Amino acid sequence: MAGDSRHPFVLDREAFEVLGAETIRMLGGYLRALPNEPVDRTVPKDVRQRLMSLPLPERGQSPEEILAFLRREVMPWPIATGHKRSYGWVNSPPAPISLLADAVASSMDCGLDGFDHSAIFLMKSLGRWIMELVGFPTEGSLCLLLSGGSAATLNALTAARHRAAARDGWNMRTEGLQGGRKHLVLYASAESHSSIQKCAEQLGIGTDNLRAIEADRDFRMKPAALRAAIETDLAAGHLPFAVVACGGATNTGAIDPLDEIADIAGAFGIWLHVDGAFGAWAALDPAYRDRFRAFARVDSVTLNPHKWLQVPVDCGALLTRHPEVHRAAFSLTPDYLEAGHSEAPWPYEHMFQLTYGNRALKVWAAIARLGRSGVAELVTRCNGLARLLEQRVREAADLELLSPASLSVVNFRYRPAGRTPGDSALDELNERISEAISAGGEAHMPTTRIHGKTSLRACFLHYENDESDVDHLIALVRRLGTELIQS
Ligand SMILES: *Cc1c(COP(=O)(O)O)cnc(C)c1O
Repeated sequence: MAGDSRHPFVLDREAFEVLGAETIRMLGGYLRALPNEPVDRTVPKDVRQRLMSLPLPERGQSPEEILAFLRREVMPWPIATGHKRSYGWVNSPPAPISLLADAVASSMDCGLDGFDHSAIFLMKSLGRWIMELVGFPTEGSLCLLLSGGSAATLNALTAARHRAAARDGWNMRTEGLQGGRKHLVLYASAESHSSIQKCAEQLGIGTDNLRAIEADRDFRMKPAALRAAIETDLAAGHLPFAVVACGGATNTGAIDPLDEIADIAGAFGIWLHVDGAFGAWAALDPAYRDRFRAFARVDSVTLNPHKWLQVPVDCGALLTRHPEVHRAAFSLTPDYLEAGHSEAPWPYEHMFQLTYGNRALKVWAAIARLGRSGVAELVTRCNGLARLLEQRVREAADLELLSPASLSVVNFRYRPAGRTPGDSALDELNERISEAISAGGEAHMPTTRIHGKTSLRACFLHYENDESDVDHLIALVRRLGTELIQS
């Protein structure tokens, strides 16, 4: 850079294209190498130390130095989500076309908050596409792309809280929660995701007013228990404001009985939100379509493109039937934003954030690349692999099924001959098998607890998962289990 007086950010066409090509080569190499790398990696001590103690440079570095640093110190140490034998988290690998579309979004640098630019209009089609994919009514509905499932559900429950207060004769925005009004009460399955509790805390509802509705042996909310809880709260003078039903539990894939829950929420006029962050895409699988039929009449749904759809983090979609309620709960337009465009209201009027990232292009690109049939094939294949794994577990004398295939999740554990199901030593053994799987680098499969037992939890989400992965997984668990009990 010596002698170059231009600002470092000035775009030199040739330099940019050379660097761009170099970066793409680097990314391609990274993605192609992933399958042959250990699934689980740990950031080495010296690297951690270096990354945490970088001195602030006084002078800017060259682009070449910056890319070299990323290649050397950052790219070798990801978490396991991109590898097809990473069965632990509900994260998918990034679709290559979405990576590229995201670079287009960054280059245009237009937020998805609003105003007159192309992505705002593309968002209308994308929202409709997502609704059509999962069978959510398109007419009058709105899709927002938020940072994830937690943010999407928080947005929906804020609108639900606003509506319930308004119906009870008060304005949440002016009065807040301190006007000595009725207690707002939220309902969710005892098996619901931790984000629901965080929403209750964030919204000032308090966990004392979050009813954890009992689930059955198969981890599905009991509708009768929901009805009874609502009746009890109404009799006590409380104000039930929302039910969150689970459209695919993270731990077990369990789907709450959405139809029966929709009947109950409808009878009491309570907002029904479905947390389908992981599972809602399975509405495209003929084997599960009926279980999601209630999407035609629920109030809102969370579903995460950054889970099954292979879109790079972050993105959680919210589908809502009540854009006007979200607007009433959130819209605040200062004078300097009075754009006066005929296409308003813009997305930002329905949410807390003002400026927010253009997540539309990467999501649009993934769906455009796959089409409806491609998305359906992906979820249907993953669900089929879970059923195959369940069958293999049932056939094996030394494996115990802990929760049957639901969506693409199966829970099981190694249980050698002579051990009874209640043997607590099996907990430690399976913990050690999970650790050995990570240490061996062939897969990633953390444990969870199912009916009080330590379980190996397998979740298929990768576009390249196939039967060979099931066979590999079964053989791996049996081999490590045998080794561990002999050692
Ligand atoms: C992952 C998940 C969430 C949370 O989504 P984030 O994007 O991590 O905020 C909520 N509910 C369910 C069922 C999930 O699987």
